[in-house]
Amino acid sequence: MPKIAVIGSLNMDLVVRTPRLPRPGETIIGREFITAPGGKGANQAVAAAKLGASVSMVGRVGADDFGRALRGNLRAVGADDTHVFVEESAATGIAIIEVEDSSQNTIVVAPGANAHVTPVDVDAARSAITSAHGLIVQLEIPLDAVLHALRLARRASILTVLNPAPAQPLSSELLGLADVLIPNEIEASLLTGLEVRDFESAERAARQLHERGARVVVITLGEQGSVAWDGNVVKGVSPFAVKAIDTTAAGDAFVAALTVARADGHDLDAALREASAAGALAATILGAQPSMPTRAELDEFLKGAS
Ligand code: ADP
Repeated sequence: MPKIAVIGSLNMDLVVRTPRLPRPGETIIGREFITAPGGKGANQAVAAAKLGASVSMVGRVGADDFGRALRGNLRAVGADDTHVFVEESAATGIAIIEVEDSSQNTIVVAPGANAHVTPVDVDAARSAITSAHGLIVQLEIPLDAVLHALRLARRASILTVLNPAPAQPLSSELLGLADVLIPNEIEASLLTGLEVRDFESAERAARQLHERGARVVVITLGEQGSVAWDGNVVKGVSPFAVKAIDTTAAGDAFVAALTVARADGHDLDAALREASAAGALAATILGAQPSMPTRAELDEFLKGAS
């Protein structure tokens, strides 16, 4: 199985269900409360590890209980947390999530230690990155660290995967360092100025992002599936039909599965099929990291679908 390095965010999600969202200044009594490990970086690291990859996570947590829990959670799925550094000056990143019964939600993220990840941290993890087959980065940590990691991986000829989330404008230099760029429709819209909402508009956006330097562009469209463009052939991928319960982190499962498959030498068609199955499976279970499928679950699902 391939070695994957993931550089990115680790958050503890604090989730409270509530009959309705409060107005400013209002206090209301909510329903149950749960804490759940999250952050796009950690979600993708856990997803890749559950798919059997040998994973090394690079990031920062605070010197607190949430930080210890997040590191323990990585180790529990067999991921290496040696390069998850402890930041003394900030708390572990958290997301406060209020979910209304109608499933509307509000989210406030306090990045905390995630905002302290630097190029120096990337250098400290250099051996884990340059010995990997693939590197995955997202945008929930400072951009200079993301850029530094991508440059390091490109120089070492390692597969680079950029999931440009949350949406923000990016330089052509950054896009040019992505072997695979995987935005969702919102991120693709922001990056291109096009309104991406279906296969046709996604294809136009993918072609534009390819021209700006990304080698392969895969745009995910939620329950509509995904569209990929590698400069030669456009691939529209229909989604697997599942009963969706909670699509949180479907994108993270997709990104991790695609990276693991490509790093393992599967061609783009096979990798897209595995990613699409992983995204669909993640949508059938509540929560982010608990919903990531294992290798056995993914293989079983794909066998049943063929
Ligand atoms: P994000 O969470 O980043 O917005 P998406 O919602 O686009 O990502 O989901 C990523 C991928 O997961 C989709 O391209 C699709 O393959 C799969 N997926 C997501 N939601 C569903 C669903 N309801 N049914 C089947 N597959 C889904």
